[in-house]
Amino acid sequence: PFRLSARAQSLKPSATVAVTSRALELQRQGLDVISMSVGEPDFDTPPHVKAAGIAAIEEGKTKYTPVSGIPELREAISAKFRRENGLDYAPNAVTVTSGGKQALFNAFFALLNPGDEVLIPAPHWVSYPEMVALTGAVPVTVPTTPQQGFQLDPDALAAAITPRTRMVILNSPGNPTGAVFPPETLRAVADLATQHGLMIVTDEIYEHLVYDAEQVSIGTYAPEHTLTINGASKAYAMTGWRIGYAGGPREVIAAMNALQSQSTSNASSVSQYAALAALEQHEETMRFIDRARTAYRERRDRIVAGLNALGLPTPTPQGAFYVMADTRAIHTDELEAARIILDEAQVAVVPGTDFAAPGQVRLSYATSMDNIEEVLRRLEGVVRR
Ligand code: PLP
Repeated sequence: PFRLSARAQSLKPSATVAVTSRALELQRQGLDVISMSVGEPDFDTPPHVKAAGIAAIEEGKTKYTPVSGIPELREAISAKFRRENGLDYAPNAVTVTSGGKQALFNAFFALLNPGDEVLIPAPHWVSYPEMVALTGAVPVTVPTTPQQGFQLDPDALAAAITPRTRMVILNSPGNPTGAVFPPETLRAVADLATQHGLMIVTDEIYEHLVYDAEQVSIGTYAPEHTLTINGASKAYAMTGWRIGYAGGPREVIAAMNALQSQSTSNASSVSQYAALAALEQHEETMRFIDRARTAYRERRDRIVAGLNALGLPTPTPQGAFYVMADTRAIHTDELEAARIILDEAQVAVVPGTDFAAPGQVRLSYATSMDNIEEVLRRLEGVVRR
C-alpha cells in the first residue's frame, strides 16, 4: 500500500540505537545495566531556568512566536555571542530553532545543493554525514587519529578540497573525541575557507565544557564565511527543552527562517522563555556551569586513568563529556567489542562505527563517579577474560 521514499530509505540505521535496544532488553531481563552511552548532562536543569518556564506557562506565553524566536531571546543571544565569543551578530542575524540539531538541519538545507562536497573531520558526530546526505550533498571525511589527540591537520583538510567543495563542518569541543581545536588550526581553516569560498558551519554546543584548552570561535576569523551553531542542551542541562540557535550572515539566517516557517514554525514558546532566563541571569547560570565543569573534569580524569590502566588506550580529551577508548584488546572489531562489554559487563557503550572511529568505543562520563568506578571494575573483568 505504500512505498518509503528514497530519502527515508537512504538513512543509515544507527549502531547506537542497536546497542541501546539491546541494553533495554537486558534491563527488562532484570540485569543491572550501566549506560555510558548517553549524550546528555546528568544534572537537572537549573532552578532559575525551570522557574522561568513555569512562569511562562502560567502567564499564558503559550502561543506561536515569530519564526526566528521571540525578540528578547534573539537580543539575549546576540549579547551572548558578543560577550562570550567575540562575535558580532545583530539580533536579526540570529535564529532560534528546536535544538541545535534543527539549526544544523536548516543550515544544510539552506546552503547545500546535490553534488556539493562537505568536509567533515572524523571521528565525527553521527548526524553530520546523514543530514548532509539528505540534502543530496556528499559528505567527505577527513581523518584524525587518537595518537594526535584527534587534532585536525589543516594540510589534510586542504588536500581534500576539490572544485565541488562548498562547506567545512567543525565541532570543537568535539563529540565523540572531546578534541578542542587551537586558535592556529581555526585560523588555518578560516584562511582556507576564504581562499576557496567555502562556508564553515561550526557546532559549538560543547563550548562551556572545556577543561585545559582555550575555546575560540572560528567566526571571529572569517565572519562572512561562518555560521555558528549553539544551543541550550549541553551548557544548561536543557536537552528536553529543545532550544538551539544560530548566528551568521543575514541572508543565510533568512533562508533558514524561510525553511523553518514551512516546517516547525518556531521553537517551543515556553522553552524560549526558559532559555532567555539562562542567558539573562548570566551569573547564576555561570555558577551552575562551573559546578558541572568541575564535576566533569574529575570524572574525566578518573575514567581516562582507569581505562588506560586496564590496557584500553584512551587519550585525554580536552572538552565535552566523552572519551574514546581503544578496545582492540577486547576485540578488533568495535561492534563486537561493544557487544562483549554489554553482554559480559552490562555496560552500554557506543561502538565507533558510525563516528568513523574503527577499533574504538565511546563512553560518556556524564554520569556519577560511583557509576564510573563500577564500570571500571566491570571492565577489568572483561579485559582479564
Ligand atoms: N551537536 C553535537 C555535536 C551533539 O553532540 C548534539 C547532541 O548530542 C547536538 C549537536 C544536538 O543537540 P540538541 O539538538 O539537543 O541541541
